[in-house]
Amino acid sequence: MADVKTEKMGFEAEVSRLLHMMVHSVYSEREIFLRELISNASDACDKLRYEAQSNTALMEDGTDFGITITADKKAKTITVADNGIGMNRDDLISHLGTIARSGTAKFMDQLTGDSKKDMQLIGQFGIGFYSVFMVADKVVVTTKRAGESEAWAWESGGEGTYEISPAQKDGRGTEICLHLKDDADEYLDQFRLRKVVTTYSDHIAVPITLAAVGGDDKDKGAEEPQVVNEGSAIWTRPKSEITDDQYKEFYHHVGHAFDEPALTLHYKAEGMQEYTVLLFVPTQQPMDLFDPARKGKVKLYVKRVFITEDSEDLLPGWLRFVRGVVDSQDLPLNISREMLQNNPTLQRMSKAITKKVLAEFEKLADKDEEKFLALWGQFGAVLKEGLYEDFERREQLLKLARFRSTGTDGWTSLADYVARMKDKQSAIYYVTGPDEKSVARSPQLEGFKAKGIEVLLLSDAVDDFWLQMVTDFDGKPFKSITRGASDLKDIAGEDKDADKKDKATEGAMTTLITMMKQVLGDKIKDVRPSDRLTETAACLVADDSGMDMHLERILKAHNQIDAVTAKVLEINPSHALIRKLADKAGDKGAVDALSDDVWLILDQAKILEGDPLEDPAAFARRLSAAMEKGLV
Ligand code: ADP
Ligand code: MG
Repeated sequence: MADVKTEKMGFEAEVSRLLHMMVHSVYSEREIFLRELISNASDACDKLRYEAQSNTALMEDGTDFGITITADKKAKTITVADNGIGMNRDDLISHLGTIARSGTAKFMDQLTGDSKKDMQLIGQFGIGFYSVFMVADKVVVTTKRAGESEAWAWESGGEGTYEISPAQKDGRGTEICLHLKDDADEYLDQFRLRKVVTTYSDHIAVPITLAAVGGDDKDKGAEEPQVVNEGSAIWTRPKSEITDDQYKEFYHHVGHAFDEPALTLHYKAEGMQEYTVLLFVPTQQPMDLFDPARKGKVKLYVKRVFITEDSEDLLPGWLRFVRGVVDSQDLPLNISREMLQNNPTLQRMSKAITKKVLAEFEKLADKDEEKFLALWGQFGAVLKEGLYEDFERREQLLKLARFRSTGTDGWTSLADYVARMKDKQSAIYYVTGPDEKSVARSPQLEGFKAKGIEVLLLSDAVDDFWLQMVTDFDGKPFKSITRGASDLKDIAGEDKDADKKDKATEGAMTTLITMMKQVLGDKIKDVRPSDRLTETAACLVADDSGMDMHLERILKAHNQIDAVTAKVLEINPSHALIRKLADKAGDKGAVDALSDDVWLILDQAKILEGDPLEDPAAFARRLSAAMEKGLV
């Protein structure tokens, strides 16, 4: 019979979907539920230790932290208990009824319904607490928040709803009791349980005790409660005593991550400042990598006490994918999160650590290019934010940066680009756009390709921005191929046939251009002959004094500017269509006769840029008329 005070609630839709998937999929590594529970218990102890700095009353139940795992063979339950911060009713609802983690929406979007693929995604995203439903068909959480008098119970079978009711509990903390599914009783076995705990949780800095009750065999020793982990913070131990697996498991815990760490950086700084660093660079992008908040996730400890994991001053935003721990000896223990802002000790530490991380990337680029490029592929777009905002690191980052380019199938560094530059080529050419494919199709590339002049293909949103701040590399200015006049004709290239092509005469071109300007009026800034086109009749470029086109489009899309400015229309004098128009442009009544064609040329150029047409109906009418003429 249900308690009258029991409230039944529905999981957030996202949680329900996730649970459904988990309950009905066969995940080979379901033992990770224990890692998740221990990880949460350890976090709960960290949180209390921090809060108690300013409110010692919270510790009135005792200052020793511990996690106890009890297997009950008769009842077929496993209970994970901690004496950490605990949860009150509101906490239970918001923490165990929703997924508050950033990146959830993106994660949900990526779910396919194909359970194999989805489980892999779960592996990347992590499901934390909800993983208990892989092994349990009923879970009861009994918990009391430190400093509060009421305890609460949360109970669910993992199918859509959960119940919350008042409960009895001695002392603060959380007890999570799993009623195991029939096919999960392997976890009742002491030996198995111990193996799982040591595999995943040896690095946990709180002692973990294994206990068993209700066993049939009076096999002593196994029944005695035993502490099974090292119980010391992993970063305080000497490197030589830590295995790769232990590093990896700690990375999973501290980074809420599930991939392999691509780089592990563990060192102790001594001298002016004393601190220990254990940082990881992930192999895969975390789900929240492109959150506008750009928050870092490195945990700051002071003398082994957890302080915060979202200090914006610990590492720069462009290193926000780095995970791990920094433990300072110098900061005061009672430092509040607010006091960390603009703290000079923290700033000095941040500078030194940033330098170390960058040095690590440089080392990798030197000795294992393949691995470095894989990392660049994942995090290059974020590192490039440093080009924009971190003046001090700009030179270093420019050397590290890799780009797609017309000159190579893979990635190129700027130094390699410069080494391949043609005679008399003075600039590093680039084109920016929304994605690799459309950038590679830019008509403005044609003339450069024909001459064998390399152009960097940039398609990260950040590219247009850092290019505003960075003027050159190695004395060579960056130059957009979609902005300003082209200096192609001055550069020695490989295009030997260029001068043999039929071209409209200069005089005819002048007449045509005058006529086109008359037709198009203020819809364009200028019309001029192009030397960057070989195949296409016309393209748009930004005016020399104007903003580059892709940047302008981004700003417009974000309402940063009201309207886009008029562009320069460049026409290709060797294109058959332009030649014909040039022939006729001097005829009497040419403006009327050719105006439809002129508008069509402008609209085509806009379509090639992916720009919306001002008057699609007029475009369709003109195109139909032109086709009709052609058919006669
Ligand atoms: P995450 O650990 O990534 O935040 P989880 O699904 O593992 O996600 O846990 C969700 C939240 O539930 C935690 O952030 C925490 O606030 C709360 N929680 C879970 N277990 C405990 C616990 N043992 N003690 C206190 N709070 C807990
Ligand atoms: Mg967790």
